[in-house]
Amino acid sequence: MPGKILILDNVATNRIVLKVKLSTAFFHVVQAGSLPEAERLLRRAAPDLIVIGTGPDDRACLAACKRLKAAAPGPGIPILLLSGSSSRDLRLEALRAGADHVFSVPVDEAALLARIRSLLRARDAQDDLRLRGRARRALGFAETPQAGFEPMAQIVLATGERAIGRRWRTALKPLLPHAIDHMPLYEALRGLGRVAAPDAFVVALDDTCPDDALRLLAEIRARPSTRGAGILVLLPQSCEALQVNALDLGANDAMTGTFDAEEVALRLETILQRKRLRDRLRRNLEEGLEAAVTDPLTGLFNRRYALPHLKRIAEYSTRGNNDYAVMVADLDHFKTINDRFGHAAGDAVLKEVAERLRNSLRPVDLLARIGGEEFLIVLPATGRAEATRVASRLCRRVGATPVTIQNRDLHIPVTVSIGIALASDHLDAARDGAGDSGTGLLECADRALYGAKATGRNQISLDGPPELPMGQLSRGR
Ligand code: GH3
Ligand code: MG
Ligand code: MG
Repeated sequence: MPGKILILDNVATNRIVLKVKLSTAFFHVVQAGSLPEAERLLRRAAPDLIVIGTGPDDRACLAACKRLKAAAPGPGIPILLLSGSSSRDLRLEALRAGADHVFSVPVDEAALLARIRSLLRARDAQDDLRLRGRARRALGFAETPQAGFEPMAQIVLATGERAIGRRWRTALKPLLPHAIDHMPLYEALRGLGRVAAPDAFVVALDDTCPDDALRLLAEIRARPSTRGAGILVLLPQSCEALQVNALDLGANDAMTGTFDAEEVALRLETILQRKRLRDRLRRNLEEGLEAAVTDPLTGLFNRRYALPHLKRIAEYSTRGNNDYAVMVADLDHFKTINDRFGHAAGDAVLKEVAERLRNSLRPVDLLARIGGEEFLIVLPATGRAEATRVASRLCRRVGATPVTIQNRDLHIPVTVSIGIALASDHLDAARDGAGDSGTGLLECADRALYGAKATGRNQISLDGPPELPMGQLSRGR
């Protein structure tokens, strides 16, 4: 925010009056006097929201709404209609045509601005998710495909009195294929932390307990479990002015007048559709982040994740004066396995070895594939004796049985060599800040690995402490 608004109205004075109102509220406005012009601007100016003014007659207005909704790039551009009529039929038809709301003239300016703010806020959040999701594509990961079917949504009706909720539920049930629950406002307020994240709330905001209803909106938006839920607020005419507060507190939609099940159902479907899109974008982003730090073959962390994580363990351990061990495990003669059995069999061996290593470590240990057939293992809070024991166990478990390649009846013997370095052998360097101890230890473990390879493979080798000044005891490497 502020966003760009496209006004479509064939009457110039209408456009100018509306433009002044919206510009005063700091929105950027572009204007179209005809539908073709609006379609052109839709592509060229990429508006965030469309307002169709009172100029076109109702038929033309609905047709424009449908066309612009379909022509807008990306899903769900918000559309508001201003109309000389306040008929229910027009309102329902407009909602079906993709409009978010119909304002009848004279338009309540505060309500119009509050609704624009609410719609743009939701669109901003959606754009943000979409933008961050692009990083995933830039990293070469495909998007999560859209689910073929939409799961049933959970809707909670929160009303002043239980009987009203019951009545509303009965009226909505035949119109919506979703699970609908109802509870009094005070109960919703108390139970919010316990409810299993509904997809949408319908909140009754009337004279009986308006403060409870407004508090509930704020609470829904504040809690992590319900923050993403859609909210539709229903207000009787007598409370109409409160819709501005409701929208500013985070309601996605507000509807005034007596309860109209058909209209509520239409508005809820729009809210749920947007929520599903947001959920999909968020999932996409989360999976993208996960994919960026995961090795696709073995499912282990990759180098991009492992090195910063090692650094964090190093800093944390140095601060707490804790020992920790860094190991590099490398498959022995892996090239020969590839050469003899083929690359696919080599891949299967890598996967199986990764699994054997994973099953032999604690959840707090870091296991990552940092090279072709090279694994990094970091054991926090672990001293020399324990590290040696763990490394020997890993060596044994990997080599204990050949890897079976299912459909080829192959049994491929495999072993690893492991180099180990211990933080306690390099404490002085870490305290002096000489190099960052995590990657320093990784180099030491690598050096120890060479030792294990040079002296026969299928074994572990411990890196010695740095050379000490003459006269002091030193372990050879
Ligand atoms: P050493 O015992 O000295 O470690 O010998 P090595 O053959 O294991 O080591 P070398 O570095 O000579 O060869 C490693 C091989 O690992 C070469 C490369 O083709 C293979 N490799 C690397 N990544 C993959 C992979 O993802 N899949 C398969 N199948 N092979 C891989
Ligand atoms: Mg190797
Ligand atoms: Mg290697």
